[in-house]
Amino acid sequence: MKAIAVTPDTKKVALIDQEPAQIAAPTHVKLKMLEAGVCGTDREICAFQYGTPPDGSNHLVIGHESLGEVIEVGSDVSRVKVGDLVVPMVRRPCDHDDCLACRSGRQDFCYTGDFTERGIKMAHGFMTELVVDDEKYMNVVPRALRDVAVLVEPLTIAEKALKQIWQVQQRLPWACAGGPGKARGSCHKAVVLGAGPVGLLGAMALAAAGFEVFVYSREAAPNPKSQIVDAIGGHYVSAETDSIARLAEHVGNIDVVYEATGASSVSFEMLKVLGTNGIFVFTGVPGRKAPIEVDTDLIMRDLVLKNQVVFGTVNAGRETFEDAISDLSVFMDKWPAAVRALITGRFPMAAHRDLLLGQPTGIKNIITLVQ
Ligand code: BGC
Repeated sequence: MKAIAVTPDTKKVALIDQEPAQIAAPTHVKLKMLEAGVCGTDREICAFQYGTPPDGSNHLVIGHESLGEVIEVGSDVSRVKVGDLVVPMVRRPCDHDDCLACRSGRQDFCYTGDFTERGIKMAHGFMTELVVDDEKYMNVVPRALRDVAVLVEPLTIAEKALKQIWQVQQRLPWACAGGPGKARGSCHKAVVLGAGPVGLLGAMALAAAGFEVFVYSREAAPNPKSQIVDAIGGHYVSAETDSIARLAEHVGNIDVVYEATGASSVSFEMLKVLGTNGIFVFTGVPGRKAPIEVDTDLIMRDLVLKNQVVFGTVNAGRETFEDAISDLSVFMDKWPAAVRALITGRFPMAAHRDLLLGQPTGIKNIITLVQ
């Protein structure tokens, strides 16, 4: 069977032949992989800036945003059945007895750093034809979401962020005066930094939660990304026409910033305009560049005097996958065309080099794994 793999020793990115995986435990399921999304992390792994092959292997099969169909189940499997569409989780627990997070199924909060991630860190990924995995990492997706379910994994980033935003804001009276029936985020303003798939999915999650959403991104409007923002009732603001200071004047008190660029300089500029009682969520993983100058006195003053919270978040636990699946159905009811427009191309495995090594194009490109 074919798989897309990187070999760091020889700096190769190639379609390789692999032995098909076999069910080896009663709780295993076998998946026919349908699709895998291409993301910035995959591109970094293919540029050999990130990612580690499993112990004993010189290569890493990549792919972590995926959709599969169950084609075989072990004798003890009860959570999924043959024919189910599933999105597998990415992070797998470390094996330290004293890692409370991993021992509680919350490997997204692993203390030791010895977790693995399928397709990223020491475990093969999903850009292949067949995968065998434990049923506990499977998340069943309704058939109605077949076309867009590959977006579940990147959506978990926003879902986990939102969950933490609600938890943090329990610290103060934050609920909307609009009363019952109003979505939780109503009366609040969120700025999404970046209009890639993570940003746009974050904008959808925030808009569905009732926030007034402003997406701040480089390209001048109109463009396909700004059209998606318009379609979900958000406001697209281009860095070409508005500075961050102008954006802040226009928005008023910025209650939430959802960073989805991986660019630290623009993110710390945005942190300077975070509002009173505001929350700044970092989701990007920047490559290491030269240090930059940051106005730390201003930031520290505001953090204290405005009760601000800054947190980083990496995806994701089971609960968050479940939230992403149910929210994706909500998005499809509200804005089906906008959700579909996030997927700008479906390509065969043979096109992997252009997709992974060429100039990034479109919004979310998908590799079709089973023809
Ligand atoms: C993946 C996460 C992973 C993170 C860091 C992201 O692209 O979606 O599952 O934890 O990269 O490796």
